Amino acid sequence: MTPIYVDNNATTRVAPEVVEAMLPYFSNQYGNPSSMHSFGGNVGQTLKNAREQVAALLGASAEEIVFTSCGTESDSTAIWAALRSNPDKRHVVTSRVEHPAVKNLCENLTSQGYRVTFVPVDKQGRLDLDHLYGSLSDDTAIVSLMWANNETGMIFPVEEIAREVNSRGILFHTDAVQAVGKIPIDMHDSAIDMLALSGHKLHAPKGIGALYVRKGTKFAPFLLGGHQEHGRRGGTENVASIIGLGRACQLAQEMMAEENSRVRALRDKLENGLLATIPNAMVNGVPDERLPNTSSIAFEFIEGESILLLMDQHGICASSGSACTSGSLEPSHVLRAMGVPFTAAHGTIRFSLSVYNTEAEIDTILETLPPIVERLRQMSPFWSERKSTATHN
Ligand SMILES: *Cc1c(COP(=O)(O)O)cnc(C)c1O
Repeated sequence: MTPIYVDNNATTRVAPEVVEAMLPYFSNQYGNPSSMHSFGGNVGQTLKNAREQVAALLGASAEEIVFTSCGTESDSTAIWAALRSNPDKRHVVTSRVEHPAVKNLCENLTSQGYRVTFVPVDKQGRLDLDHLYGSLSDDTAIVSLMWANNETGMIFPVEEIAREVNSRGILFHTDAVQAVGKIPIDMHDSAIDMLALSGHKLHAPKGIGALYVRKGTKFAPFLLGGHQEHGRRGGTENVASIIGLGRACQLAQEMMAEENSRVRALRDKLENGLLATIPNAMVNGVPDERLPNTSSIAFEFIEGESILLLMDQHGICASSGSACTSGSLEPSHVLRAMGVPFTAAHGTIRFSLSVYNTEAEIDTILETLPPIVERLRQMSPFWSERKSTATHN
């Protein structure tokens, strides 16, 4: 049975066009792009082309793209580059709802003598801008904020924030892993200094990422070694994956309109259908400030993991709003930061669509899920004594 895959914020299918573009680099095109001979040099030419394809999706220039091994490496590189090139500044600003790639690094920085401000969000997942701007000082080396949230799809006004942060002489980095390919991004005239993206979230393979570094930005490499990436990241290039990422960026550009029309319509059909048929269900986040593909829905008084298991029996793949930490199911830090009540956070499911989803798949989910929720609620002690704490849609 082919799954109904609505977990695209976790990872995506590699596009067949991407696989095709990569294949020669696993067989006869095995040259090292740094070699002096033309066999390697030809590979170097193709890498150059891929760099231009990635830059084009971002409205950047090719020299501003550094290839890395993943989104996590791009985020770490950006934050460490800011700290290493401003050694007298010891303050970092981020948010409470970042992906672990930024969150765990920033938490670790506090034990290395840095001061970190974790800016809160409101009940709808909107950033507290007064808190953010109020925290900036001469000691602030970098502000790192995600462009779009992987759990709720909430979009932060990063362009506006970057302008304000930049005007105070502070570097701005954005984890745009969930935004790239889903919403238009244009680094031309942008105040964003660094931007992280990851291949496997946009139909390229796992294990390839990129960091945009604005021309003129002070930079310090994370991996020291060879002269690859103009000395900004040592290590022989992951040639096939870089070529795959380039092709995926080109496809994303072509698919952007569809993502924002057909995929958005499918997401809305799914969301509205579930809210109409399932009582005590609500959306986490502000409907029109989200990515077009993401829907985070809380089904009160039941556990997300139970919903996932039963959906899995029908071949439906989604995610829950919990993270398994030390054997217990904790509601995610994102939902906790938003103050989503415990009974709702525990029953949260994230659906994340892609251009490969069909209307028939959405219809199947709309038929399958309501009886699953009903069945679980009949078994839930909280449902019979329910006292809803949240506001209902
Ligand atoms: C997936 C993800 C990352 C990490 O990317 P990897 O390539 O898996 O390291 C970082 N930030 C966000 C928002 C993500 O969704």
